[in-house]
Amino acid sequence: MIASLLELGGDRVERADVCVIGSGGGGAVVAAELSTAGLDVVVLEQGHHWTAKDFTQREDEMLPRLFEEAGMRATRDGSVTILQGRNVGGSTVHNLCYAFRTPDPILRMWREEHGLTSLTPEALAPSFARVEKNLRVKPIREDEINTLNRIIRSGAETLGYSGFVTKHNREGCVQSGYCILGCSYDAKQSMLVTYVPKASAAGARIYADARCDRIEAEGGRVQRVLGSAVGPDGTPHGSIEVSARAVVLAAGAVASPDLLQRSGLGGDRVGQDLHLHPSVMAAGFFDEELHAYRGIPQSYYIDQFIDLESDPHRGYVLMPIAGFPVLTATQMPGFGRDHFAQMRDFSRMAGLLVLLHDRSAGQVRPGDSLSRPRIDYTLSADDRRQLAEGLVHCAEVLFAGGARRVVIPFQPEALVLQRGDDPTEIIRRGVRQGEITIASTHPQSTCRMATSSSQGVVNPFGEVFDVRGLFVADMSVFPTSLGAPPQITTAALADRTAHHILARWPELSA
Ligand SMILES: Cc1cc2nc3c(=O)[nH]c(=O)nc-3n(C[C@H](O)[C@H](O)[C@H](O)COP(=O)(O)OP(=O)(O)OC[C@H]3O[C@@H](n4cnc5c(N)ncnc54)[C@H](O)[C@@H]3O)c2cc1C
Ligand code: SF4
Repeated sequence: MIASLLELGGDRVERADVCVIGSGGGGAVVAAELSTAGLDVVVLEQGHHWTAKDFTQREDEMLPRLFEEAGMRATRDGSVTILQGRNVGGSTVHNLCYAFRTPDPILRMWREEHGLTSLTPEALAPSFARVEKNLRVKPIREDEINTLNRIIRSGAETLGYSGFVTKHNREGCVQSGYCILGCSYDAKQSMLVTYVPKASAAGARIYADARCDRIEAEGGRVQRVLGSAVGPDGTPHGSIEVSARAVVLAAGAVASPDLLQRSGLGGDRVGQDLHLHPSVMAAGFFDEELHAYRGIPQSYYIDQFIDLESDPHRGYVLMPIAGFPVLTATQMPGFGRDHFAQMRDFSRMAGLLVLLHDRSAGQVRPGDSLSRPRIDYTLSADDRRQLAEGLVHCAEVLFAGGARRVVIPFQPEALVLQRGDDPTEIIRRGVRQGEITIASTHPQSTCRMATSSSQGVVNPFGEVFDVRGLFVADMSVFPTSLGAPPQITTAALADRTAHHILARWPELSA
């Protein structure tokens, strides 16, 4: 069952074996694994249940409908925009389907430096296998690579930079290119069309428009979840109370620590250690029309500048990016005529972004309301240097791919490089917050896994230290920045937590 709590109306009191909060990359997996094993599961999802027929492929309609704070979520100083989904299926409904397992050197670093000795590739293999099967992960075919990604690949190959065509989770993709606004063809194998229906078919009661406001524990044991029926503006119109033997918090790396802090749970490290995989972009302008936004948005991946075997703590990758008009307009510098001049060449534009494996650590704290948490994040000098270096390589790749000019969107004055100009001018200008658009689609690590509460918030199976039966299963459990696309790691760790709950069920349900 998937129902809108808002449409049901009134106040509800429910009892369940397990209450899952959030239906995205982690929550949907837990709900499906537990309900198919026979547990009675209730899911509370604050966002609406939109489906393929609602995805109109229009930015003005989809950004406010599908994203937290209508796509305007940002750090408190406004320097980093953070995109997160707010709908049944969470951010997987908008993601771009890069599908990677956790890199082995990252798992090794988590074992050796964070004491998480059970996180071996072998131990995680069954979870990866289940997730990849359910999400239909497979390599992208040569004929599915669009113009944008071909140009970027050609530029990287000319320069001898290492890169590869990735795997993805699409089935029957018609290559429309609208992934970020939701797939109108049900081809993207997001949680919305995979794990969520699986959970529902197995008997999970999934309430959309149902926001968790607080989690209650007594005597070191989780007891119940209190929530409200909400619309897009967050105003409560009714209540829900779910008593459960176990609660799995999977509201994403911003809302999960916010909820724990509001509930007085999780200890001192809740909300600390925020990593963002911050990204900055360069725009290349070509003589011919590319229509870079058509076709599968991301299929190529440049990994020349990250060597996790030698140093698992730093580095960056380069990823093709094509925006739609509104998103691109917000990224491009200038005002009035200058801005219009850039946007007039929209169909000749190809973007390449630097995505950083960041060591800078920020914080999430409760704000005025659950809809507006306080997010702080300051880039370290080393991370700023890497982003600037990355932009130099973006410019090189775009020129090698045939761009006539490359624009680095510094504010208030963009840097415009013509063919033959020295791109190291980017390093002289430097990357400073507030002076260039920085975006994040991967907030993580705010309830990190550790071996003790002084180091983190949850144990290696996702259970909150000192609160029996309360688990976290989303991107907030990563011990450090991941340094790779996170959806498969999120889902595999959530699968592992679900199977741990099943193995402990006789004790947890007693
Ligand atoms: C634009 C974009 C592109 C991306 N591209 C890729 C990619 O190509 N490859 C990749 O690996 N990853 C990608 N990702 C990241 C990937 O989608 C995430 O790793 C994954 O969705 C994280 O899962 P999660 O459970 O942590 O959070 P989410 O999927 O965001 O789910 C959290 C859910 O909790 C709900 N929630 C929040 N607060 C409450 C509350 N109080 N009560 C009830 N519900 C609540 C939210 O509405 C949301 O549905 C992308 C993300 C974005 C935004
Ligand atoms: S490119 Fe494929 S997965 Fe993306 S929206 Fe179009 S049909 Fe769906």
